[in-house]
Amino acid sequence: MTLDEILEEIEKAESIVLLTHETPDGDAIGSSLGMKLALRKIGKEADLIVTKYARTFNFLPNIEEIKTTSDVEKYDLAISLDCATIKRIDNREYFDKAKKTISIDHHGSNEMYADINYVNPVAPACSEIVLTMLSYFNIEIDKEIGTCLMMGIITDTGGLQYPSTTADTFEYAAELLRKGVDIADICRRTLQEKTKSNFELQKIIMENLELLEDGKLAFSYVTKQDLLDVKAEEGDHEGLVNIGRSIEGVEVSAFIRQEDDENIFKISMRSNGKINVSDICLMFGGGGHPRAAGAKVKGTVEQIKEKIIKEVEKYL
Ligand code: 5GP
Ligand code: MN
Repeated sequence: MTLDEILEEIEKAESIVLLTHETPDGDAIGSSLGMKLALRKIGKEADLIVTKYARTFNFLPNIEEIKTTSDVEKYDLAISLDCATIKRIDNREYFDKAKKTISIDHHGSNEMYADINYVNPVAPACSEIVLTMLSYFNIEIDKEIGTCLMMGIITDTGGLQYPSTTADTFEYAAELLRKGVDIADICRRTLQEKTKSNFELQKIIMENLELLEDGKLAFSYVTKQDLLDVKAEEGDHEGLVNIGRSIEGVEVSAFIRQEDDENIFKISMRSNGKINVSDICLMFGGGGHPRAAGAKVKGTVEQIKEKIIKEVEKYL
């Protein structure tokens, strides 16, 4: 069984590095930090390397142990969490150089790029897969590990609201609540409270929002200048794409954000269920889940808008 092989590799490895995807969201940080703390329980000190993350996550236990750099040559084992493709891994060189690689993920579009791939597309969050693994390994999930993993589940399920949430998810939540994990606090910090910059970006998004295709497609954007004007920091764009999706009649919400390289925009798409946005984003060289996906594309706002309309039209 794959899980036994994974445990064997972890036990064999003298040095382990944990990696996740670039611009990490709650599930990326929660699953990787939870994994790091869990490995400590079995006597393994792993390095978690992340370039930058939103300050929203600063409340997590031991978050200050995250490193931005290390010795790329030194790792026996690299584990990527929540990364569908090798190109999405932040600090990918650590993965490339490691003697053995494992991918733990919940994307249906996972490209099975590691030596061992443990992928469950039905899991609502990578953090829930880690919970399942730890139970199988008989590693005690304490309040600290539980807080990290629950944060990943809460952010990837919109507070246990999305249809990806399963009966297992509620059972895990109940178990962790009994252990003292403060689920209400996690929801408040990650779903309710907004940074001022995020609030300013919401205003811009609403101002720029267009309803296209008989109101079935919501499209909006922010430019690099907007991001500079509101002093946006890492993570301040999170949740903006949901504004379009919440409008009556909208099937797909598409939001684009200009990158530092002004020719490149990051697309975020959300669906209300009828249309598979992962398929659409695959067309743009990205991927994701049926209801939440993304990609990076070249062009101007108008050009990308036209491309998105053309792709979405095929599915409407
Ligand atoms: P978000 O819109 O929150 O950035 O991403 C939504 C989902 O799409 C996430 O599950 C994320 O992993 C996936 N995703 C976002 N951007 C990309 C991308 O450029 N490539 C791929 N393969 N997946 C992406
Ligand atoms: Mn995830």
